[in-house]
Amino acid sequence: MPQIALIGAGIVGLTTALEIQAKGHSVTIYAESLPGDEKHARYTSPWAGAHHLMTAGDDPKKREYELETFKRLWAETETNSEESRYLMRTPLKEYFFTDRTGLTELDHMPDFRMLEATELVLGSKSGVGFMTITIDTAAYLPLLLARFLSRGGQIRRVQIQHIDQVLNGGWKTPIPDLLVVCAGIGARSLGGVEDKDVYPIRGQTVLVRAPWVKEIRGIHLKEDDLVTYIIPRSSGDVILGGTYTVNDWYPHPRIETGQAILARALALMPDLLPPDVRKKNDQNGKAATVADLEPLIIEHGCGFRPARKGGIRIERDTYTLSTGNKTVPIVHGGSGYQMSWGTASKAAELVEAGLN
Ligand SMILES: Cc1cc2nc3c(=O)[nH]c(=O)nc-3n(C[C@H](O)[C@H](O)[C@H](O)COP(=O)(O)OP(=O)(O)OC[C@H]3O[C@@H](n4cnc5c(N)ncnc54)[C@H](O)[C@@H]3O)c2cc1C
Repeated sequence: MPQIALIGAGIVGLTTALEIQAKGHSVTIYAESLPGDEKHARYTSPWAGAHHLMTAGDDPKKREYELETFKRLWAETETNSEESRYLMRTPLKEYFFTDRTGLTELDHMPDFRMLEATELVLGSKSGVGFMTITIDTAAYLPLLLARFLSRGGQIRRVQIQHIDQVLNGGWKTPIPDLLVVCAGIGARSLGGVEDKDVYPIRGQTVLVRAPWVKEIRGIHLKEDDLVTYIIPRSSGDVILGGTYTVNDWYPHPRIETGQAILARALALMPDLLPPDVRKKNDQNGKAATVADLEPLIIEHGCGFRPARKGGIRIERDTYTLSTGNKTVPIVHGGSGYQMSWGTASKAAELVEAGLN
């Protein structure tokens, strides 16, 4: 049976490994960080909201991957699978400061509609509403890993300096017939890959406990690097965001940014406050403040979205070891949650082609 080595255990690595296993191949995942680890900025997937929001614009490939992923997640919520417990069908309202009447990019989403003028908030000019999926990333990633292991997958927790180490069986592991790279932001510095087109878009969030929130809201502010969003998860935790700062490598949450996120989120959804606090404030004629949200905070955090000049890299290539004595097929895989299953199945097809 062909031996496939795969670098990365984020959402891209795990979905890709499962799709390759589904084709009957033996897969070993090599990764420094795994689901369930203490969170840090080098491992992006545990930080994501995550919700499915089509962002492909007029890029047909991205659109195909996003649609395929959405259909799969949506269908999963109709089952009683374990996965379906961590996926939640959720109504979404998204507001814009430009007039986007006639927007067609999202009109295939279930229950899509343009918002009425009376529904617009905070001075926004237009808005859309539809149903989508939120993913409880803290539970979903360990579930994917457990599924991978239960199907015979192997894991090596290693910090890889150069892909030659994997290709040489450097950890007493099988010499792979093919290598798949799903290293996220790590692709920029991983020896043998060093993709300098990969850069970070830093996102900062605040995770709160607010099981009464059952709607996603997002608003695009005038500044390019700010977007306010509220994403409830099936667990009752809610992600508040966010920022979208290109090439910002600062690896810890900034206190002032966290406070600004809380203030923006409260303005966007006053019902973020617990019902009893709202009632008490109303009785006392007191305006809601960020301090009212403090008891709900679980953590402040940030992660680096792996972005890439020229678009996502999902391609087949060959690689010659530094010693020059061997050439192996290599596949670069996938992107994000909302394209995850779509790009994973494409990467698995490329693996088949590479082995042949
Ligand atoms: C705040 C925030 C909110 C987001 N919200 C959403 C959302 O709502 N919807 C959505 O679709 N996306 C969202 N994203 C984006 C999404 O999280 C990322 O696109 C996605 O997690 C990237 O996954 P990945 O598997 O490529 O990378 P990662 O999750 O970073 O995984 C990379 C893996 O490669 C391993 N690795 C890398 N280099 C090495 C090395 N040298 N040696 C060993 N192992 C290595 C790492 O240890 C890790 O296991 C959000 C991101 C952020 C930061």
